[in-house]
Amino acid sequence: MFSFLNCLQRDKVLSAPPIADTLWQDICHLPLLRGLNPDELLLLRQHATWFLHDRVFSPANGAQFDEKQYLIIAVQCCLPLLNLGFDCLDDWREVIIYPGEFISRNRTYESVGEYLGVIHESDEVLAGQARSDGPLLLSWLDCAESPWLDGWNVPIHEIAHKLDMRSGEANGCPPLHADMDYQAWKSAFSHAFADLKRQDEADEFGPIDYYAAENPAECFAVLSEYFFELPHLLFDTYPAVYQQLQLFYRQDPKSRLTPIKYRPTSADQLPPEYQTPL
Ligand SMILES: [Zn+2]
Repeated sequence: MFSFLNCLQRDKVLSAPPIADTLWQDICHLPLLRGLNPDELLLLRQHATWFLHDRVFSPANGAQFDEKQYLIIAVQCCLPLLNLGFDCLDDWREVIIYPGEFISRNRTYESVGEYLGVIHESDEVLAGQARSDGPLLLSWLDCAESPWLDGWNVPIHEIAHKLDMRSGEANGCPPLHADMDYQAWKSAFSHAFADLKRQDEADEFGPIDYYAAENPAECFAVLSEYFFELPHLLFDTYPAVYQQLQLFYRQDPKSRLTPIKYRPTSADQLPPEYQTPL
C-alpha cells in the first residue's frame, strides 16, 4: 500500500516545477490523448511526473533516450491509471527500455526430487513484457508507434498485465472494484474469448487482433488496447466487455474519441485529426 511517507514525497515532487509546458503541449497532440478534458490532462501530467520520478528507467543495449521519449512512454503507461491512482503500481519499480524488439529467454521448471530442474528453455522476440518478478520491459520503437489509434499499444498492454498480476498469476481477471460483479466480468470475457478463438481457428477475418485468443490474460490485455484506442470498434464487437472495462478503468474513451469502426493498417487510414506527427 502507498504509505504516508510516499504520499508526502509525491506531494513534494508534484509541487516542484512540472514537465515543461512546451514539451507537454507536444505530448497533448498524441492521438491517444485527444478528447481528454483539462482536468484529466492535468491529472495525467501529475501521474506522468510521478511515474518519471518514482520508476527506475534502465536503458538496455547501450541505448540512450531523451526527456521526450521517456515522457511518451510515461503518458501511455499512466493513461489506464488515470482514475485508478498510483497504489495499483506499488508492487514493481523498474522499466527496462530496449531500442527495438528484444529477445526474452523463458525457462520452464519442474521438481526433480527435492530440486527444481529446468525442463525447457525458449527464446521469444518481444515488443514488451510485464515480468511477474518485477520489471516492465519495453521496446522504444514499438512505444513510439503505439499512440496512434490502431488497436496496438504496447505500454497499455503491459500495464494491463501488471494490473492483472495484482491477484497473482495473470489470468485475465484483475482485482475488481467493490462495486463490480465478477460474474458479469467472467461472462463478458468468456464470450469474447470463445468467439475470438472460434474465428481464429476458422481462419475468419475479424476486427480484433487474434493475439487476444491466445489465453484469457492476453484477451484482457489486447482488449484493453482496443478500449483506449478503438473504443467504438470494441463497443460494437463486444459491448459487454466495453462496459466491464469502462467500470474497471473508470473511463469512457468512446465519449472522447472520434468513431473509428475498423482497424486501420496505416496512419493515413485514420481521420485527419489523428494524423499529427510525433
Ligand atoms: Zn501480453
